[in-house]
Amino acid sequence: MPRKRPGALRARQPSRAPRGLPAQRIHGLSLRTSRAIERVERLSDDYYLYPGATDRALRRYREFLSPPGRRPRYPQPSGCDCRGCSFRDVRHARDVLEDVLRQLPPRPRAELRHRVRPLDAAYAARTLPDPFAGRRQWRAYLWWRRRLERGYEGG
Ligand SMILES: [Zn+2]
Repeated sequence: MPRKRPGALRARQPSRAPRGLPAQRIHGLSLRTSRAIERVERLSDDYYLYPGATDRALRRYREFLSPPGRRPRYPQPSGCDCRGCSFRDVRHARDVLEDVLRQLPPRPRAELRHRVRPLDAAYAARTLPDPFAGRRQWRAYLWWRRRLERGYEGG
């Protein structure tokens, strides 16, 4: 008669995936940078910066710029300030990326910035400047908020 049941042996084995590490990389980023980002998100006390927010922000930014062609794109207000709905406004996605960039150590920051830069260039090329942004835009000192928007009405 065996002294230990197989189940008991299995239970003693250490779990393979260390806790607190992301299961997978953020698309287009190294595992090392993905982990640095996950750490910033996890330690953040900002309501809008939570685990997975950077990945979502990158996807949203890409998606906004993905329609082919050269027709201008117009950011739209999200209509709801909760951290899920806020991503409907692409400018919120760019805000989140900026917040993460500011808090990352130099190397992961450089890698993420390298990913964001071409998206910024595309955004600048496909949106139109808003000459009155200073008067009507929230946080107009951010260049991606000084672009013409389209209101809720679809104008
Ligand atoms: Zn909402």
